[in-house]
Amino acid sequence: MGEGTQDDEEDEYDTYADAAVPGRGRKENNDDAREGRPSMNVIFVLLDGLNIAAGETCMGYLSALTTAGRAVYGRVPCELPALSRPLYQCLLTGRPPLVSGIVHNTFWRPDPAPTIFHRARDAGLVTAAAAYHWFSELCNRAPWDPVRDRCVDDPGLPIMHGLFYCNDAYPDDHVFLDAASLRLRYRPHLLLAHCMGIDDAGHRAGADSAEYRNAARRADMLLARWMPGWLEEGCQVIVAGDHGMHADGMHNGPADQECLTPMWLAGRAFHDVAAPPPQAAWCGLMADLLGLND
Ligand SMILES: [Zn+2]
Repeated sequence: MGEGTQDDEEDEYDTYADAAVPGRGRKENNDDAREGRPSMNVIFVLLDGLNIAAGETCMGYLSALTTAGRAVYGRVPCELPALSRPLYQCLLTGRPPLVSGIVHNTFWRPDPAPTIFHRARDAGLVTAAAAYHWFSELCNRAPWDPVRDRCVDDPGLPIMHGLFYCNDAYPDDHVFLDAASLRLRYRPHLLLAHCMGIDDAGHRAGADSAEYRNAARRADMLLARWMPGWLEEGCQVIVAGDHGMHADGMHNGPADQECLTPMWLAGRAFHDVAAPPPQAAWCGLMADLLGLND
């Protein structure tokens, strides 16, 4: 986010109408604990495997927001290797794969560095995620035990309220419904909604396929269903891919198709922002919005 953006905006910033959900939502004592600097509610939508070509040709709603000046758009090169688990860890902690040591997808041991969910929990904020189970492993507990970990409600965990899935074909519309359910019940300050449909289609049919492009189009239509309400309620919404997808049906290397990702920032915190930050700065961006760096 730009210099001074939050300072400029925070006085007029209005968070959720907590009174509508008794006992939920942002607590005034959180602000008091951080000397009156309110956090903004953040929704991070991670569209796994969305490459630049699909991001720039298939996403009608997000393109309309950008054209109308209601979202900031930019191309962001992912860290390398262009693999999901190392990049999840990067966006959670700001630590690139060579720093975290998580350099391949089969590495399930958590990086000891605190994730953005740890930091939010420790600051007294409410956290939630509708996400692939690797986020449960990286933030909450590892190894994954689906019976124990798939649905969690535990304020002691970094992701307090989680609906995790472990099938790559889990439908994206269900991920958005899971996220909506978490919002309705817990009014989280930080909510991750992580869809695997685009990546799954890319692995099955390659990035140069109707299947892959249509998965991207469907994700954009889901955003068109849900994002207007989020923005109306004052949320800061971040939408990004973690890595791209090659026509070969894989991703890992530095080719633009594999490592360039589209990113959109929408919400009043981003009005003065010229371009999205590098991937290793996404964690810091969320921390700024949540008031964790004050
Ligand atoms: Zn993949």
